[in-house]
Amino acid sequence: MSDVQIAADVRALRDAAPRPPTEVRVIVRAILAAMRVTLRNLFRTPVTVHYPDKERAYPSRYRGLLALAYDKETGEEACIGCRLCEYVCPPAVIKVEMLKSEKRNYAKTFTLELYACEFCELCVQVCPTDAIVMTKSFDLSTTDRRELLLDKDKLHAIGRQFEQSWATGSKLRDMQGPPKLARAVEHAVEGPPGV
Ligand code: SF4
Ligand code: SF4
Repeated sequence: MSDVQIAADVRALRDAAPRPPTEVRVIVRAILAAMRVTLRNLFRTPVTVHYPDKERAYPSRYRGLLALAYDKETGEEACIGCRLCEYVCPPAVIKVEMLKSEKRNYAKTFTLELYACEFCELCVQVCPTDAIVMTKSFDLSTTDRRELLLDKDKLHAIGRQFEQSWATGSKLRDMQGPPKLARAVEHAVEGPPGV
């Protein structure tokens, strides 16, 4: 028997054999494809973590919950109640009342409606005393909006509880002009501006 004859017989036998219906073949193929993906992912390192048992390390410039800070030298509240953050806030969620005092001023009241905050960081940027800051945490989820109306005490408590983000008003403003050393050299050569 020649090779051509054998090939023709094999083809004839294959054509004569009963074949599963097209739908069954499609389903089996889909199941195998899905199992292949499952098997591939079974041995991959997970990208998720078991929060809150385990927390990720946040980047230093993470923009999380807002907080009020204390003056690092005196330990007093850093906020002087100047209301700049209130004026600059686009959705107007900050309200400050100033308390005038002999040596310096304070915030008599300070409220921040966190549920409407845009996390734009403008309030941090304008603060002259680095009093309002962002923290490296978002951990204030709640189903009650009233808990997100933060008063001065709550804002200070957040500042004590969570690590502060890199940004402060002074650092952000410094980034906008030429570096301090370059400015000093410029003044030494050309004299201070306006002279
Ligand atoms: S981050 Fe922006 S929106 Fe939020 S309180 Fe500050 S200025 Fe207002
Ligand atoms: S947080 Fe800063 S900008 Fe806002 S009132 Fe206090 S000192 Fe002024």
